[in-house]
Parts: sequence; C-alpha cells; structure tokens
Amino acid sequence: MKNRIAAFLFFFLASFPVYAAESIDFVDVGELEPAIVLDIRYATNNNFTGQAIYPVARCLLRRDAALRLLRVQQALSRQGYRLIVFDCYRPLTVQKRFWEIMPDERYVADPSKGSRHNRGAAVDVSLADSTGKPLLMPTSYDDFSVKAHRDWKGAAPQALRNSGVLEAAMKAEGFEPFPTEWWHFDAPGWENYPVSDFPLKKSGGCED
Ligand SMILES: [Zn+2]
Repeated sequence: MKNRIAAFLFFFLASFPVYAAESIDFVDVGELEPAIVLDIRYATNNNFTGQAIYPVARCLLRRDAALRLLRVQQALSRQGYRLIVFDCYRPLTVQKRFWEIMPDERYVADPSKGSRHNRGAAVDVSLADSTGKPLLMPTSYDDFSVKAHRDWKGAAPQALRNSGVLEAAMKAEGFEPFPTEWWHFDAPGWENYPVSDFPLKKSGGCED
C-alpha cells in the first residue's frame, strides 16, 4: 500500500516539472501592461518572410523576463517613452521556417540549438513616444545588415540617441543587448529555460 501511494505521489509530482517547462511559466505581457505597444510583426506580412506566421499578435514571455520588461516600461514611462514589442516567445517550429529562409547565425538562431526566443527569454523591442508613435531607430526591424549592428555609428544622431535610451533602460533591468541587432535583448538566465514549441493561440496558451 505504501509503495502504491509512493508510486502515485512520484508520478503526480513528476508531472509538474514537464508542465512548468512547457508553458505554465509563461505570461502575457500585453495583458499585464497596456502601455507596451504590441507590433508583433510575425502576425502580419510586414516581416522578412513577407507572410503572416503567427495566428495572433501576442507577447508571451517567461515570468521573470516579463516582470523585468514591465519594470523597463515603468522606468521609460517616467521619461515619456513607451516600449514597442516586435517579438517575444517564438515556437521552435517557426524557428525552423526562419532558418530555411535565412540560414545565417548572425541574424537567425540555428534551430538545432534553439533560439533564445524559443525559450521565451528574449525580446525584440523598439521605442515610441508617450502617444505610441514609433521613434526613429538606426534601421527598420529585421534589417539583416551591418546598419543594425550596435557598433555601427552611421545612423542619424537622433536614431543613435533613441537606441541608446532603449539599451540603457533594458540593461538597467538585466537584459543583455545582442551585438548585431539593435532591437534584440536576452533576459538574464535565458540558458536555464528549455526550448518550447507550443503554438501561439488567440487566448490562453500560458497553461496548456
Ligand atoms: Zn530577437
């Protein structure tokens, strides 16, 4: 009898980490902070693939990364800015499609290793004014050229200033800037999260 209870408890408890690893640890940033402007490009055809990849425009992130991003928004609000979010959690299946189109690790992570976006621990962001109007940045999103690199100084001074404001705010909450994309930031501890592949859905999706 004792063994049976032990076995039951073992299987009961063992089911939790799998669940947590898959999606229960994700939260919806747009629901938590309406000040953040959602411009989820892969839910539109305005992206480097030219087609809508996601069925819905949502920003799901691991809880710790999401809370950090909310604090970034709070700090930016005090300076009269809002975050624009282009991409958050990205299913591994989508990563494989991207890799077929752009097999260059400077711009798209190799799906055999998994992107930090697949772990729900990376964000692509930009800056807007307090009304939500996008501010000038060094390039457009997903500009796969040296002009998007953080050490490229040829952009308009205002664009470099805006990019600097964004980078300083993100770094203050522990995000690590990616050298070849001014919009990409990794959450601290990203390597501790597993790669996920649950699909983005219209609602829920944080618990299946
Ligand atoms: Zn990114």
